[in-house]
Amino acid sequence: MSLSPIPRGVYSSIYSISPKALADRGVRLVLADLDNTLAPYKVTQPSPELVAWKEALSANGIALFLLSNSRKPGRAQSFAEKLGIPCQGHSGKPKKAGYLKAMERMGARPEETVMVGDQIFTDTLGANNAGVTPLLVQPIRLAGNPGRYIRYGLETPFRLLGKRRPFL
Ligand SMILES: [Mg+2]
Repeated sequence: MSLSPIPRGVYSSIYSISPKALADRGVRLVLADLDNTLAPYKVTQPSPELVAWKEALSANGIALFLLSNSRKPGRAQSFAEKLGIPCQGHSGKPKKAGYLKAMERMGARPEETVMVGDQIFTDTLGANNAGVTPLLVQPIRLAGNPGRYIRYGLETPFRLLGKRRPFL
């Protein structure tokens, strides 16, 4: 466990993360962020591509789990239901409690778990906090909110460091 904001690799999207490569590294659980990671903001329906990725994970013995910070029940839960995966809202990333609770629910240890997310200061930091391997993906789309560009700028040094130490 550490307070590091450095991810283990930066991937162009979740589709650059190979389920087979994860399985070969002993991964059994993928915790995933929703917005800008699994789907663009506001999208309510999983894409066929996402369904196929989830099925490929499953075929490799890996469970996908939606770890959301959303305080409102609704979109995250219903997105997860449509995708056929478990979901936990109010996860409080970057605190580690939400990660630990999700792993306990899924019966997985930190060493066999990765977190896939687009934000350093929530997804990555929280994963390192909980002893989970953080995989950073490029946000699907930054447009729509100036705050996202500012945050992305602040994240840049950690992205560069993360690129040098890929997990896969
Ligand atoms: Mg996100």
